[in-house]
Amino acid sequence: MLRDALPKVTMPLPGPKAAAVLQRRAECMPNGIKSIYPCVIARGEGAMFEDVDGNIFLDWVGGVGVLNIGYSQPEVIKAAKEQMDKYFHAMMNITTHERYIEFAEKMNEVVPVRGDKKKTMFVNSGAEADENAVKIARNYTKRPNIIVFSGAFHGRTVLTMTMTANRNYCIDMEPLADGVIRAEFPTLYRAPEGMDEAAAIKYYIENLEKTIASVGADTVAGIVFEPVQGEGGFIPAPIEWVKAVRAICDKNGILMITDEVQTGWSRSGRLFASEYFKEAGAAPDIMTTAKSIAGGMPLSAVTASMEIMDKVTPGTIGGTFCGNPVSCAAGMKVLEIMTKEDYPAKARKIADFCMKRFHEWEAKYDVVGNVRGTGSMMGVEFVTDKVTKEPNAKLVSDIVAKAVQKGLVLEAAGAGNVIRFLCPLCVTDAQLTAGLDIFEEVLKESM
Ligand code: PLP
Repeated sequence: MLRDALPKVTMPLPGPKAAAVLQRRAECMPNGIKSIYPCVIARGEGAMFEDVDGNIFLDWVGGVGVLNIGYSQPEVIKAAKEQMDKYFHAMMNITTHERYIEFAEKMNEVVPVRGDKKKTMFVNSGAEADENAVKIARNYTKRPNIIVFSGAFHGRTVLTMTMTANRNYCIDMEPLADGVIRAEFPTLYRAPEGMDEAAAIKYYIENLEKTIASVGADTVAGIVFEPVQGEGGFIPAPIEWVKAVRAICDKNGILMITDEVQTGWSRSGRLFASEYFKEAGAAPDIMTTAKSIAGGMPLSAVTASMEIMDKVTPGTIGGTFCGNPVSCAAGMKVLEIMTKEDYPAKARKIADFCMKRFHEWEAKYDVVGNVRGTGSMMGVEFVTDKVTKEPNAKLVSDIVAKAVQKGLVLEAAGAGNVIRFLCPLCVTDAQLTAGLDIFEEVLKESM
């Protein structure tokens, strides 16, 4: 069974069939949709996929965080098929469908935002969820500005590419959206020189306060951040900083918005990373999520208190495909399985297993600058040496290119110098060990 297989590549990649498809891709698709991988999938199961030439890969990228439940989860397939047999689409502005209702009810039970009574709206992508969170926050507070952070990634629409820190995502696509103000994200490994953790957190809180003051706190609708920055390099937000953000929000009538597009759905060791914040008395007001929500079906969600949600003028939010019934049916099943099989515990177990190896590498190899993470949202940061901490993107691109030739699919983050772990959480121990072995082997070859 592919589900239990180990990586096996029997030819230089791309193989002949994959090369032919990639050639057609180059001719029919815009180059602006980027890929560096020689992979053309034929089928996927669990944490593994087989390509059109019969090579078998262990996927540590999982569709960039979409496949926490794994490829082709049989119960999710069944739930989606059963829904497909009834109807594919019903537009919530016209025909109410129950899949939306039951999944929204469930989301309101499990999403750890503030409020006794909560409401959830579904949209189609992470960017769309983040845009709607901003619209809802502006509407609720009647204020124009939002605070975002260095290293943030929130998507590729005009508003979310403005919120995204890396300007490579908007080359020659200006003008950007108004009302987006950036503060520094707490990056402890790269904190200002000489600062210990406590001093660094204080520095980042003061930076946030100054940024807010520069536009006037009474103009700020929301502070949006990722509990663990994804694209930014798998950097966890320290809990003391999050508590300070919550206090700043409360003092100034600002909404705290967590973007759990990548951190959500068990990856962090909890169903949502915001649960850690809630336990520390710092639950968000609005939470967005997407990616792994429906096992690969397109869906995303925004959840907030009824008070916040119901202030929005009817007709100003929603859209044709939002809350597709097949996606909602798949999402309900994903949530049921993650709860029944305790996927957050699987994430914690994977983290223990991998972190042991990653920490050994940190001690053993001068190019491994830092390993970190929350649950199994783990990042390994590569540098030219531990003293200068110069980002080593060249090494990481070599590692990624060599690993895929041995059947391990890896992806970079941060300044191109962090390997991120987004493997399906149903990965087996043998597959994890095989992945770690390939990773270390190509690291040694690439140094
Ligand atoms: N927010 C975060 C934290 C993300 O990681 C991403 C995508 O990587 C997005 C938003 C955008 O999601 P999408 O690509 O579904 O629009």
